[in-house]
Amino acid sequence: MGINQSGSFESSAADHAAEADAALEAARAALATPPAAEVPAMVLLVDDQAIVAHAVRQALLGAEGIDFHYCAKPEEAMNAVIQTRPTVILQDLVMPGVDGLTLVRAYRSAPETRDVPIIVLSTKEEPAIKSAAFAAGANDYLVKLPDSIELVARVRYHSRSYVNLLQRDEAYRALRQSQQQLLEANLELQRLTHSDGLTGLSNRRYLDEYLAAEWRRSAREQSVMSMLMIDVDNFKQYNDTYGHVAGDEVLKKIAATVEHCLGRAGDIAARYGGEEFMVVLPGTSVGGARLLAEKIRLEVAALGIEHRNSSAAQHVTVSVGGAAAVPAPGAVMTSLVEAADAALYEAKRRGRNCVVVRTEAEAGAGR
Ligand code: GH3
Ligand code: MG
Ligand code: MG
Repeated sequence: MGINQSGSFESSAADHAAEADAALEAARAALATPPAAEVPAMVLLVDDQAIVAHAVRQALLGAEGIDFHYCAKPEEAMNAVIQTRPTVILQDLVMPGVDGLTLVRAYRSAPETRDVPIIVLSTKEEPAIKSAAFAAGANDYLVKLPDSIELVARVRYHSRSYVNLLQRDEAYRALRQSQQQLLEANLELQRLTHSDGLTGLSNRRYLDEYLAAEWRRSAREQSVMSMLMIDVDNFKQYNDTYGHVAGDEVLKKIAATVEHCLGRAGDIAARYGGEEFMVVLPGTSVGGARLLAEKIRLEVAALGIEHRNSSAAQHVTVSVGGAAAVPAPGAVMTSLVEAADAALYEAKRRGRNCVVVRTEAEAGAGR
């Protein structure tokens, strides 16, 4: 605006007054049209004087979406905050028994009330007191009794930022939760794509990956690797005698037994095909593999599942063929599988319910 044409003091002052009037008019107009989405506010006043409560209630009365609660006893203030969950606390400074600033600090240190905005209400317009209030954790400071328009504006401002904070926290929590769910879903999916539906053992797809990786590792480290092929004896007869459903139950029990026999971290059991299982034993010698094969055979027999039409026994039994090898340069993994398969064939030939485990070299010589 600046100096007016005449330069006289009166007309300049009159201009200023007109300018102020215009600004006030603009403010009134702005106030008359509330913001599109005003968040609901909940005010809790903590003040020992009922007259202040009355005045504040009156000041907030016309404001839409602002609820008002009043707590007259400072010793009940903390509980009142926790129960009414205000979006703004109006906190008196001087009360009998308790210092208002002590309460402000108490709100700030409790997890439930830590972030609730606090407007300190004081009778004094005193910079040192204001400073102490902010230092204690207050967000704002008003001198009693505040003007209605200003009080409503500050209540709305603090409520809005508090609700925004809560929404951000909630959005963040929801995001974290959905990330966690996604992670779990992926793990479950991975587990499902790796496991056999009937027995829960590793499936053929995972077995192939695992075998290839372990074969490469054995070749690299020139360490021994063993595998066992386990085949249920006369299982076709079992199905024919007891039915397919009973047969499936037997496969589950055998799978659990095989799994139970494995001890080392790198050992895995997989369903190789219909009623055949494979066990991969990285770093295990032919002697170790033979012991384990015998253990599996005995434990399956010990299940004592009746199989009256078996040629091997009166109960369900398995034959186990195994092979061990240190991969020679350029050797392919299928050679080990073939050796184990040949050993299994030999076990069947010897009458079933027995174990044949050989080194690859032995298997080759026996062919
Ligand atoms: P052998 O002692 O020589 O192994 O005789 P076998 O009858 O077990 O051998 P064969 O390979 O002739 O038959 C395997 C049978 O296993 C065929 C089928 O009836 C049964 N079988 C294969 N997969 C499943 C399955 O998922 N569930 C059930 N219940 N039976 C299966
Ligand atoms: Mg078979
Ligand atoms: Mg069989």
